[in-house]
Amino acid sequence: MRIFKDADEMQRWSMEQRISGNTIGFVPTMGYLHNGHLSLIEEARAECDLVVVSVFVNPAQFGPKEDFGSYPRDARGDLEMCEGAGVAAVFMPTLDAMYAKDASVGVNETSLSLGLCGTSRPGHFRGVCTVVAKLLNIIQPQVMVLGQKDYQQAAVLTRMIRDLNFPVELKIAPIMREPDGLAMSSRNIYLTKEQRSQALAIGAALTKAHDCFYAGESSADEIKRQMRAELQENALDIDYVEIVNGLELRPVQSVEMGNVALIAAFCGKTRLIDNCIL
Ligand code: AMP
Repeated sequence: MRIFKDADEMQRWSMEQRISGNTIGFVPTMGYLHNGHLSLIEEARAECDLVVVSVFVNPAQFGPKEDFGSYPRDARGDLEMCEGAGVAAVFMPTLDAMYAKDASVGVNETSLSLGLCGTSRPGHFRGVCTVVAKLLNIIQPQVMVLGQKDYQQAAVLTRMIRDLNFPVELKIAPIMREPDGLAMSSRNIYLTKEQRSQALAIGAALTKAHDCFYAGESSADEIKRQMRAELQENALDIDYVEIVNGLELRPVQSVEMGNVALIAAFCGKTRLIDNCIL
């Protein structure tokens, strides 16, 4: 497995692979890899000859009061997992390798990124779009695999790829969960034992939304009320509870199949997100 820290070297390798006729599947991550990331790697392997994983905790997508400094990091563990998963190359750039000190160009998505996480994390999606645009230019994959876990991120990046004509096909992989239903996340490591069991209310609230809808309830207000009650009973601090249409992420009044229920909530200081396509 090749490990690249330099963007030019990574790009040269990718170009050589493409000239040799290999297809590249790409999985962008912030590291501290878990089985959710592995499922994306598997999907990329099924689609392409070679898989490239990037591991980069991108400061541009963190707010000043967020957890960039304390975000969990384990380069050695990540490399072992990638090696075991048959990854061809890992791109692990330093901060300096990714951003020139006087970098002054970025990518702004101006519609889908405004609500939901965009409201509570201003600047987040500009950071995400900019880093993913750079990674696509460096790695030049035919396929990029993202997780449904970050539903809004996947929607925003789908829009960026369409609007800026990136020559890449996007695949969205399902959410991987712990046996008790908690969506896998690198941030779960922050949770105390007590918070870990409180956090189960997020999955439970989404199950409630699903069950409620399939029992015939179509009022978004009523479904959201029940979701909030589940979260509040477990002392979670709600950032948002929303039901949106799948493509434009517009909140709906009357819920239809294919709409998406989304939650962001704080468990102590840890902000967790999860969602369910109804
Ligand atoms: P992250 O390292 O958290 O930035 O995530 C990198 C990629 O892995 C993103 O496309 C996420 O949506 C995806 N991902 C994170 N958690 C999960 C999960 N539990 N199941 C599936 N994909 C996930």
